[in-house]
Amino acid sequence: MDVLNLIGGRWVEGEGEEFADTNPARPGEVVARGRFASAAEVERAVAAARSAAPGWAATPHHARAAVLVAAADLVDASADEWGAELAREEGKTLPEAVAEVRGAARILRYHAGEADRESGEIFASPRPGENVLVVRKPVGVAGLITPFNFPIVIPAWKIAPALGYGNTVVWKPSSLVPLLAYRLAQALTSAGLPDGVLNLVYGEAEVGSAIVDHPGVDAVSFTGSTAVGRAVIARCGELGKPVQTEMGGKNASIVLADADLEHAAEQVCLGAFRSTGQKCTATSRLIVASQVADELLERVADRAARLVVGDPLESGVEMGPLVSSAARDRVTSGVAQAVEEGAKPLAGTSPVDGQGWFVPPTVLDLPGIGVDYWHTELFGPVVGAVRASGVEEALELANLSDHGLSAAIFTRDLGVALRAVEGLDVGVLHINSESAGTFPYVPFGGVKQSGFGPKEQGRAAREFFTHTMTVYLGAPA
Ligand code: NAP
Repeated sequence: MDVLNLIGGRWVEGEGEEFADTNPARPGEVVARGRFASAAEVERAVAAARSAAPGWAATPHHARAAVLVAAADLVDASADEWGAELAREEGKTLPEAVAEVRGAARILRYHAGEADRESGEIFASPRPGENVLVVRKPVGVAGLITPFNFPIVIPAWKIAPALGYGNTVVWKPSSLVPLLAYRLAQALTSAGLPDGVLNLVYGEAEVGSAIVDHPGVDAVSFTGSTAVGRAVIARCGELGKPVQTEMGGKNASIVLADADLEHAAEQVCLGAFRSTGQKCTATSRLIVASQVADELLERVADRAARLVVGDPLESGVEMGPLVSSAARDRVTSGVAQAVEEGAKPLAGTSPVDGQGWFVPPTVLDLPGIGVDYWHTELFGPVVGAVRASGVEEALELANLSDHGLSAAIFTRDLGVALRAVEGLDVGVLHINSESAGTFPYVPFGGVKQSGFGPKEQGRAAREFFTHTMTVYLGAPA
């Protein structure tokens, strides 16, 4: 399948380097081919977005919403086909991939619904005959940079609010997942998006930096690793450009002595191993009350050992490969280092058959939090456990991280659950469910090194994709 860049309403091959995207379960198999955008094409994409901006901002919100709804219908209609492409391109299982495509349609519809909701505020004035209005305006041209692990949902949760609120877009997807980016852009253009409103440019760091640096880009929304995110924040700071970054995680699940251990073990495994652990909200640290630690770890290790790992397109497969050989090497060397530092592997010692970038679901009993594993995001199907003497120590251990994206706590005690709400420094907290998972109508994002700027999703999205103007509306004299 050949994919194309979208610049000013035209599908173009690209003047940059050629690329081929391969199936991580069968690395010899090419899923998509294309060419990166050149520097001149990034210029043209920004120029197209700038010239389309006034017209799109002036288009009634309901007309913009109608395009999002039509695109959602197209995405839904193709969910099975595009889900299979997503599984081949990124490596998550087919059911997860189809659900992700449907999730993107749902997000497009949610943001279309914004046209029917209040879009500003009105205040009284102490001056006779005057009211004070707070109106929302688009920020202009939004530069969007997205990661590999959710090839259609994360782009949708940036593109839908950006367009819905009247911005135009220059978007660089991850070079590891160009096909689903192409599909989403196709759905939006087929749905009637005017030329230049959405521009898709393929490329790696160079193209990402060119978007961030470009004076014609008014604001940047980035999702990806903390290292790249911090560089984007620093650059936007120098340029005085609004920026939103959603970054890495090292998410803890706490299992307390009163928890339903069967349920907790199942949820910990879902959090750690679904999507091959390649979720920013995946469970990678496990903190277990000492009294139940042996039993809980045995259940988690047993479930991990029984997980069916294989080609994500095959039915019955519960976990696919990592996205690339580099990801596989990073995870295997992170696990080896943890073992060198004293971690005991409880599951994941046998390699997975197959030529793809597979690693086994791995459970580590850690010697403590001094190991590098505790602090470094591996972004793979690995969970490392420590024991805690009680609630306060468990919360303290969970907070001992530079990251603060999500956490989970398993307990039957409402008082303890409320203590966790108060005590945990995270942007998302699950009580009695796995650390991953998010609904599109509520805010999503992290604190500490996991997030910067306004949150994404739900109504929170408008904090980034609009700015307010306060209007003192006096009566004519
Ligand atoms: P990544 O390596 O940071 O890449 C993210 C995006 O940034 C890609 O499109 C990448 O391009 C681009 N990029 C790389 N260097 C750049 C630069 N110097 N300037 C501008 N753009 C640049 O992240 P990833 O490996 O794709 O995704 C995994 C990471 O994302 C994990 O850390 C995960 O926790 C995080 N994540 C966070 C969230 C969240 O909401 N908090 C959600 C999902 C993922 P290329 O890759 O094409 O070179």
